[in-house]
This record gives sequence, C-alpha cells and structure tokens, in this order.
Amino acid sequence: MSVRVHKLAKELGFSSKELIVKLRELSVSVKGHMSVIDDETAEILRHELEEASKKKRKEVEKIKRKDFKEIEVIYPLTVKNLAIKLQIKPNELIGKLIKLNIFANINQTIDKDVCEKIAEPYKVELKEKLSDEQELIQLHEVKENSKKRVHRAPVVTMMGHVDHGKTLLLDAIRKANVVDGEAGGITQHIGAYEVDFSGHDITFLDTPGHEAFTAMRARGAHVTDIVVLVVAADDGVMPQTIEAIDHAKAAKVPIIVAINKVDKPNINVDKVKNQLQELNLTPEEWGGEIICVCVSAKTGEGIEHLLEMVLLQAEILELKADPDTYASGTIVEAKICKGSGVVATALVQSGTLKLQDIVVTGLHYARVKAMINDHGKRINKAGPSAPVEILGFSGVPEAGDTFYVVDEEKKARSIVEKRRHKKREKDLMPQARALTLEDLSKEIQKGKIKILNVIIKTDVQGSLEALCASLNKIESEEVELNLVHKGVGNINESDVMLAVVSGAVIIGFGVGKDVKASETAKSKGVEIKLYSVIYEAISDIRSAMEGLLEPHIKRSLEGRAEVRQVFKVSKVGTIAGCMVVKGAIVRGMESKIIREDENIFTGTVDSLKRFKNDVKEVKEGFECGIGFRNFNNIKAGDLIEVFKLEKIKKTL
Ligand code: GDP
Repeated sequence: MSVRVHKLAKELGFSSKELIVKLRELSVSVKGHMSVIDDETAEILRHELEEASKKKRKEVEKIKRKDFKEIEVIYPLTVKNLAIKLQIKPNELIGKLIKLNIFANINQTIDKDVCEKIAEPYKVELKEKLSDEQELIQLHEVKENSKKRVHRAPVVTMMGHVDHGKTLLLDAIRKANVVDGEAGGITQHIGAYEVDFSGHDITFLDTPGHEAFTAMRARGAHVTDIVVLVVAADDGVMPQTIEAIDHAKAAKVPIIVAINKVDKPNINVDKVKNQLQELNLTPEEWGGEIICVCVSAKTGEGIEHLLEMVLLQAEILELKADPDTYASGTIVEAKICKGSGVVATALVQSGTLKLQDIVVTGLHYARVKAMINDHGKRINKAGPSAPVEILGFSGVPEAGDTFYVVDEEKKARSIVEKRRHKKREKDLMPQARALTLEDLSKEIQKGKIKILNVIIKTDVQGSLEALCASLNKIESEEVELNLVHKGVGNINESDVMLAVVSGAVIIGFGVGKDVKASETAKSKGVEIKLYSVIYEAISDIRSAMEGLLEPHIKRSLEGRAEVRQVFKVSKVGTIAGCMVVKGAIVRGMESKIIREDENIFTGTVDSLKRFKNDVKEVKEGFECGIGFRNFNNIKAGDLIEVFKLEKIKKTL
C-alpha cells in the first residue's frame, strides 16, 4: 500500500510544503502533494523524520497553548491538590478521572500524564517544579557514561572475628606508609586514611568490622569497594568470620582474604583455606576466585602483597568518578572537639570538595570553614575517594549520612528545615510498621517478591544444620529462599542490621535475643520469630513461601471521617471537627490518620463527641469531634479511618 504526500504530511504533523522540502533534503524526489510514496520509502521516512515530527508537534502545541495559564506544581500531585491548582471542586475532578477509568479518592496521587490531560480543557499548563531536595539529587546524579569520569582509589574495610588482627593490620599499613620526616611521624585517626602504594592510592576505613559496615549501609551509604577479611591463621574461621562474609556478600562487595598472624609457630594455613572453601570462598590457588594473602600485622610480612592484590581487584572493578562536579559522599565519623566545634570526617565519592562549599548532610549543613587531611594538614580541596575532616557544621551529623554540596546557602537551609520537619512528624508517629513474615507472605502471593530473605540463628550447630537442610528441601517455582546469614548463638544487633539492609526476617530456634537487638528490631521494624519446635519454623516458612501464611490479625475498615476544622481546647488538646463520610466512627477503635496518602499516626480514638455530648459511635453523614491521646498535629483535610481488629486462628 502506498501513501500520498499530503496524507503522510498530516500523519507526521507537517504541511505538505514542509514535507516536500524535507523529502528533497533526504533525496526523495516528489512532484507535489498528490505524489505517491511507496510503502517502504514511507516507512523509512517515518523513521527518519520521527525527531523532526516530535519537535514540530511540540511547537504547534506551544502555539496552541499560548493563551494557556502556566501553573507551577510539584509532583506527585494528589487529587485534592490538583483540584486546588485548577480551582475546581474535588468532586468535579473525581468525575473527570472516572471518565478516564481512574478511580481515585481525594488523597490519592495521580500520574503526571493524567494531571496534564485533565488540566488541558481548563487551559492550564502544568509546569513541573522540582522540590529543593529533588533538585539537589538531580544536580548530583552520577552520569554513568560521563566522559569526565576518571579512575579513583578503592575504599577498603577490614572485617573478621574479634582479635584476629584487624586493628593491628590497619595500623601496620598506616605506619608503613608514613613518609620520613612527616610531622609526628604518624597519621591522624580521623575515621579513614589514604595510603600511597607504588603510586596508587588506597583508602582504608578506620572503623573495622561488619557491624559498622552494615550500620552505614542501613543509612543508605555505599562506601566500601573491597572487603579485606582478616582470619587469624592460629584460630581459623570463627562465628564472626562467617558473619562478616555474609554481611559482605549481602552488600555484593568483593572479598580478599588476609590470613593473618603467619609469624606464629605451629599454624596451618591450608586448614584455614579448607574452612574458607567450605564456605564457598575457594582460594584462587585451589581453582576458585578468592584471593588469599598470608600476612603478619606484627612483622609486616605479606602486607605489600596484600596491597598489590587490593589494587588488582580495584582494577577489575574499574572504579571511576567525575572530579569536576559538585561534591557528594558519605560522613564516616563526626564528633565535637574542644576549640574547633563539630568535626566531621567525610569521604568524597564524587566531585571535588572545596573550602567555602556549602554542604548538606542529614539534618545539618555547613559552609566548609577548614579541611584537614589524614596527615593533619590543612587542605583546600579533596577529590573522589579522599577522606577529609570538615569544620563548620552547626550540629553533629551521623556516620553513614550522605552529604551533598549545594550552590546556595538558602537552599541548604530550606532542605534541612524540610527534613527536620519531616523527622518531627515521623517521631510523633508510633513505631514503623514491622516487616513481618506475614507481610512478606502477602507480597509473595501478589507476586511482588520472588526472594524470601531469612536470617537463622540456632542454639547449636546440629539444629542449625537440621533446620537449613529442611529449608533447602522446600521447593517452590515462584519464590526462592535466600539464607542471608545463618549462625549459632543469640540474635544480636548486627543480625538485625543485616536484616534491615537485606529486607530479611530473623528466625531463632532455641535462642534468645540481646537487649540491643530487641530494641533495634523494634525501632527498625524487623520481625524476630522465635521457635522451640523445628517443625513449626519450617512450616511457617513454607507457608510464607507459598503466600499462604495468614496474618494473626485482620483489619477491616469500619468508618472514615474527613477533618473539616481543628479546635484547640485547653486541657483537652486538639479536637478534630469531622464529617463521617463512610460507615461509622467508634470510640476506642484503632484508627489511622492519613495526610496526603501517608499514614501519619496510628492509635485509638480517645474521645468522640456529638455537639457537647460524649458518644460511643457516630454514623455516616453526621458531624462529630474526634480527639486522640498523644497526637495534636491534626490538620483540616486529614482523613481519619477506624478499623475493626479480628484475631485469626492460624491453621497450619
Ligand atoms: P581485632 O580485634 O581484629 O582488631 O584484633 P587486634 O588488631 O586488636 O589484634 C588482637 C591481638 O592479636 C593483639 O594482641 C595483637 O597484638 C595480636 N596480633 C594481631 N596481628 C598479629 C600478628 O600478625 N601476629 C601476632 N603474633 N599477633 C598479632
């Protein structure tokens, strides 16, 4: 089938005349707008002119929109906020959405395309305004294919069992690198240090151990490029060695093994390698992929070889960063020092940090007053992979916080203020909802997750093996069971942190949990399930994997009210004047307060009034006053939902 010029022009959004000019440019000769173009040529033209056609359409659109009103918005927009922007009633907007087959309530967010489509008939052009935070992130977005990215030094963390020599090894490497005649002859402890090994830099983090490593990851920081696993030759693989391996693996960071203390008599290196092989860390010399280096932190033997291997691994990783952009990175340590105020050690990961730069991190910002390197020298700039102390923060940032340089102090202040506000609201909320085995099971059923991550701790090795063997036998086509970590002993804080970063549940058999583990689990919303019968543990996990684990508690919506007005009543607190829009509000029931689609509070309805009278229940279509204990930050426009809780018997 062929097509005439004028038809193709219409299709592509050009006039016939314009298309003929374009065709001539592409050496396709046509006589006029009635000329016929064969199918194949038309297809090529469509392809060739795709870009030009888009551009043209945009221009036409722009002319068409000349008399449109431009309104700035920040996405995502809720139904309510779009209605406000368009100055129409929410119900009118909901009606329009239904016509587009979108059924949304007032607090639900709508896609950008849909917002634009809805705005058009009102002659409104929605112009996207990025929030300060979004702007900041965009500014620092790493351009993976940027030509300006150049080689950067690897960042290394030492891990391993206690007393296997991590600290001494870090010291030995540091001392070996001190240039003669340097002030004091020793580097400063600032949380990280850089060594120059035969012309190549390597950065070491000075807080060894997988606990610190995973705590940083839990704050969103990805700092370490290579893990050096320290195993004492006289002691071999120990429980924390296994923990360290699992923590490194969960972070997908490559491991180099340093078999330490080889200066000691009667050691057996092969025995250690054997143990490593059993943990799937087969040494290179045995046909595997793991580099093992024998070292002595005491005598210095093998340390050069270890550094060579670190550089080799770094080369394979092709670590790169752009030094010519706004700096960003991670805070590795921060403290208050007499005389200098807050001192924070930052590891630059991208860009170059300079004096007078404005740095935002967590809930604080700083204009960089001074920078000091790991040799105690004042410096003016620090590039990728360089650790540097920063002076000038108003408060103490936390280790693991990401930092970004912004171009204006005003922006820094606004971002920090917004973050503080968000944090305050979050603090008012009761603890975060736990990520439970039941929740995961539900997600599995919906097909949303394909891997069930589990951490297992048992009383003795025998039960650990029995439990793991049975779990490995569970077959499921949809879901894979991933044992993030297994070990013997009580559930500790590092297990919980590992669960946080890998989205895992913790299963304990015949063990307890440390006090700190319990606290952290509660605050981070990690579920720890303790069992005393192996069969029960296996059965729960199997049901979860089949998406069949029933929740213990079922919530069903009993009623919904819209907050219309807020009253402050002395001695009583804040009372929300509401209209019940669905079902009934019942005093004493569990309730949620929802603002802009976000659940900002969960608690019980403490007081319920019709006019001045206390009542037990208020039905749909009536007004009422609702009060909550411990929550006063309620606003007009919030939604209050109450739920009936039902305990469900588990049938396994
Ligand atoms: P960490 O807990 O892993 O940081 O271990 P440390 O670095 O504190 O070392 C624990 C103990 O082992 C200390 O008494 C060190 O002196 C000793 N040690 C560390 N490395 C070596 C080594 O290569 N050879 C010998 N003989 N002792 C070492």
